[in-house]
Amino acid sequence: MQTLAERVETGNVRIAVIGCGIGGMAAALALKRAGSDVTIFEKFEAARPLGAGLLLQPTGLWALRELGLAETAINAGARVKRLDGRTPAGRLLLDLDYERWRTGAFGLGIHRASLFSVLHDAIRAEEIPVALNEEITNIAAPWWPTLMSASGARFGPYDLVIIADGAHSALRSTLMPQARAPIYPWGALWTILPDRNGEFPDTLRQIYRGTQMMIGVLPIGRDPASAEMMPAVSFFWSIMRKDFDAWRRTPISEWKKDVARVWPEAESLLAPVSAHDEISAATYSDVRMKTWRNGRLLFLGDAAHGMSPQLGQGANLALIDAVLLADTLKRADRARESVEHALYAFERRRRAHVNYYLYASRWLTPFFQSNSRLASAFRNVAFPLARNLPFFPGFMMRTLVGVQRLSFRPFPVP
Ligand SMILES: Cc1cc2nc3c(=O)[nH]c(=O)nc-3n(C[C@H](O)[C@H](O)[C@H](O)COP(=O)(O)OP(=O)(O)OC[C@H]3O[C@@H](n4cnc5c(N)ncnc54)[C@H](O)[C@@H]3O)c2cc1C
Repeated sequence: MQTLAERVETGNVRIAVIGCGIGGMAAALALKRAGSDVTIFEKFEAARPLGAGLLLQPTGLWALRELGLAETAINAGARVKRLDGRTPAGRLLLDLDYERWRTGAFGLGIHRASLFSVLHDAIRAEEIPVALNEEITNIAAPWWPTLMSASGARFGPYDLVIIADGAHSALRSTLMPQARAPIYPWGALWTILPDRNGEFPDTLRQIYRGTQMMIGVLPIGRDPASAEMMPAVSFFWSIMRKDFDAWRRTPISEWKKDVARVWPEAESLLAPVSAHDEISAATYSDVRMKTWRNGRLLFLGDAAHGMSPQLGQGANLALIDAVLLADTLKRADRARESVEHALYAFERRRRAHVNYYLYASRWLTPFFQSNSRLASAFRNVAFPLARNLPFFPGFMMRTLVGVQRLSFRPFPVP
C-alpha cells in the first residue's frame, strides 16, 4: 500500500470532494492548504446556499479560525450571547448564557448565504476548481476511486474521495447500503425577516407550546440579499412533514394569527410576509453509519452524521471534520502511513464527539418536536428543576457550546 509520503514524492495527493456545501468547501480548503490537489464536484449549475440562518458555536468558530475565516464570518453575522426558551406563559425552560462557559464566549448567528460566501470566496482565492453541474452517481473501485457522473463523464482515479453530499446523500445509499437515515416526522418552516425595531438582538429566543408548537428567532446580522442595513433574524416554525401541504393550502394570514396567538411579540416580525413562497420548508435525517470509511472514500459532514438541528451542531461538526481531517492526513504523512490508516485515525479521533451529538439530538428532539404530551409535561417540570442541580447547568452549557463528548474530556477549544 502506498504511503501518503510516497504519493507526495510522486506528485501531489489528488483529492475529489463531492458537494460544494459547508463541509465540502471547508474540507477542500483545509486539504488544499495542506498541499493536496483538490477538485470539488457539485451537482447544481451554480453552487448555492440552501436554507436560512445558522447558529455557529464556539467550536465551529474555532474551526473557522483555523481556516483563517472567523473574523470575516463574525463581521457578517450577529453575536449571540444567550439562549432563552420559554412556554407561551413565560415559564423559563432553557436559560443558557455563553459567558457561563467562558468569559467573552458567544455563538454566531449567521445567514447561510453569508457563511457560504465566506467559504466560497476562500475557495476562489485558493483557485480550487469546482466542477459544476456534475452529479456524481457512483464511485468505482473504492480502493482506487473513479467518479461516475450523471453526465456520463468519469473522473479520476483519485488518492482520496471525500463524500460531503449532505444529509440526504444518494451516494451513501449506493455505496454503504447498510447505513440508515430515517427522515424525522417533524420538519421546519424558515424565513429571514428584518428586525425593524431591533427587538431581537443577541439572544436565540424560542417559545414552546407542548411539543407540537415551537417558534424560534435567531439574530443573524445583516441579510446579504437585502439593500437595507437593518439587522435581520431567522424565523423558525416547527411543523410535521405530513402537514406541509395543508399549511400551503391555509391562507398565510391564518398562520400569522396562529403565531401571534402563541407569541404576540413575533407578530410585528411577520408583518412583511404575504405569501407562502416567502417561507421555505426543511426536513432532516437521523444518519446512522457504523463506519464513515470504505477504502479510500470518506463520508464527511451531514452525509456521515446528519442529525436534527435541535442542538444546532450540524454545520459546526462539518467544519471541525474538515479541519481535523487535514490535520490527521498531515500527521499520517509525517509518519509515512497510508491514506487508509489516516482515515481510520480520523474516524477514531472524531467519533466520541460526533456520536455524543447524534445520540443527544436523537434523545432530545422528542421533548421539542413530537406528539407526546408526556414528553412536554416532563420537560416543563424537569428542565427548570435541573437548572438548579449542581451538575446539570455545566453539562447543558458544554452541550450547547459544542464541546461535550462521549468521554470525560471535552473537545479542546483553545
Ligand atoms: C432547518 C435546519 C436548521 C439548521 N440549523 C443549524 C444550526 O443552527 N447550526 C448548525 O451548526 N447546523 C444547523 N443545521 C445543519 C446544517 O445545515 C448542516 O449540518 C450543514 O449544512 C451540513 O453541511 P454539508 O456540507 O455536510 O451538507 P450540505 O450543506 O447539505 O451540502 C451538500 C452539497 O452537496 C451537493 N450534492 C448533493 N448530492 C450531490 C451529488 N451526487 N453530486 C455532487 N454534489 C452533490 C449539494 O447540492 C450541496 O451543495 C440546520 C439544518 C436544518 C435542516
